[in-house]
Amino acid sequence: MNLNTWLSEKFKFDNFRFPQKEIIELVLAGKSLLALMPTGAGKSLTYQFAASLAADKELILVVSPLIALMQDQTNRAREYGIDATFINSSLSGEQKLQRMQQIAVGQYKLIFVAPERFQKPEFWNCLEKRKIKLFVVDEAHCISLWGHDFRPDYFKLQNYRERLGNPTLLALTATATPDVQGDIAKQFKLDLKNDLILGGLERPNLALNFFDIYGDEDKNEKLLEILEDKKSQSGIIYFSLIQTLENFSRFLQSKKIDHVRYHGDLKPDQRKRNQNDFLKGKCPLILATPAFGLGIDKPDIRFVSHYEIPSSIEAYFQEVGRAGRDGQTAFGYFLYDQEDLSIQMQFLTWAYPESAFIEKVYDLIKTRYDIVSVQGFEYLREQMVFKNRKDFRVNAAVSILTRWGCLEEEDQTPFGYKILRDPTQEDFKLEDQNVLKKEHQKKLLALMQFVKNDKECRLIQVYRYFNHHVDKVCGICDVCTGN
Ligand code: ADP
Ligand code: MG
Repeated sequence: MNLNTWLSEKFKFDNFRFPQKEIIELVLAGKSLLALMPTGAGKSLTYQFAASLAADKELILVVSPLIALMQDQTNRAREYGIDATFINSSLSGEQKLQRMQQIAVGQYKLIFVAPERFQKPEFWNCLEKRKIKLFVVDEAHCISLWGHDFRPDYFKLQNYRERLGNPTLLALTATATPDVQGDIAKQFKLDLKNDLILGGLERPNLALNFFDIYGDEDKNEKLLEILEDKKSQSGIIYFSLIQTLENFSRFLQSKKIDHVRYHGDLKPDQRKRNQNDFLKGKCPLILATPAFGLGIDKPDIRFVSHYEIPSSIEAYFQEVGRAGRDGQTAFGYFLYDQEDLSIQMQFLTWAYPESAFIEKVYDLIKTRYDIVSVQGFEYLREQMVFKNRKDFRVNAAVSILTRWGCLEEEDQTPFGYKILRDPTQEDFKLEDQNVLKKEHQKKLLALMQFVKNDKECRLIQVYRYFNHHVDKVCGICDVCTGN
């Protein structure tokens, strides 16, 4: 079969982008791989292609952490005539059941699921009726504790894969440092020497700029300048704190500058509406926390600005990399205020609480479940004597306990969790919060060094961080242009 002909007939593209063809050829031949391709390079095409060639009974299973995008990904695959669907918590019980019944009788070639789907026996029942041709793990960096977006659910994926008879695996990601690559390879029993395809991380059209700034007022002025210059071009401004985001939103309102917001304090449907308004071009500007953007496909984002510092170089590059997917020049504007470092340091202290703290939260939930189930987090926080309303250690502890399988989400009580089992020493060892905290502090430090290094091309610095060595300077960053 001629892959190029199929590409133009089925997908209406003239050429493969590197290394799409290499990946497709290998996985079709049954070789398992880890493939790195920059954001926007077209990772989805690799599994869409496989799905478009799937024979009777064969199924391409895509595991992704991004429930909010599954509908879109499904729609896009359908536009190429691929029989695709998704199953996730946004569907009613009845809808899920129906889709699983259809899968069991051979409908669908491509399905998207989040990793927790595998906890459901019904899901296994329907999968067992099919032959898994390809097991795709999208955003594979989420498997690594060292990654910037660790999802413990990803830990179990290799077990699931084995239970499915060890189908060919395709792990996809845009940002994986060598450590993270090693972690992914170890989990999926891949050999980095033979089973890694590096599509390169190069994004020569990104012009990265950094500004030393003191205080929010100066930041606002600087951004106003940038926004006036950009007119109504599409852009994202990232914030670490919802409060700062809201303040800036009010500032923009006072200047009559149109924008939408995306953060955790907005209701899910409001968030979704705002996201759509931005993605569909109804509103050019979005103010967002890092929760926004993973996996989005909007080619014409012209700039990404950081109002507060992100957590690591990989988080930064992932975020700024959402600009300029169309290959046209796009800009990164990083507003650096040294004081903001303390926000990230604080986050790390809260995100990785001490073992004793986690145990104490668990004991409270267990011994006073009658009160906790009704009063929920409010009560827990009170008992743990918190002065600071933003301190999210209790929430972190609950989500750690949930991913260990000690608690489970349920919607019978206002608290929203029920107890499954006590945490064990093994749990604390397997995911040592102190070790995690230290690793993430190192990443933050590397980011600071990068921001401060104005002697060397910015892109070269980023590439080196990912162990990718490039000699040619970008010519467009603040260092290269001498700004
Ligand atoms: P990511 O690698 O970030 O997951 P996507 O798979 O979402 O990227 O693809 C980004 C965009 O690139 C999509 O709009 C897709 O249609 C487009 N694309 C993918 N492959 C090709 C190709 N060979 N030629 C032209 N456009 C492509
Ligand atoms: Mg993608």
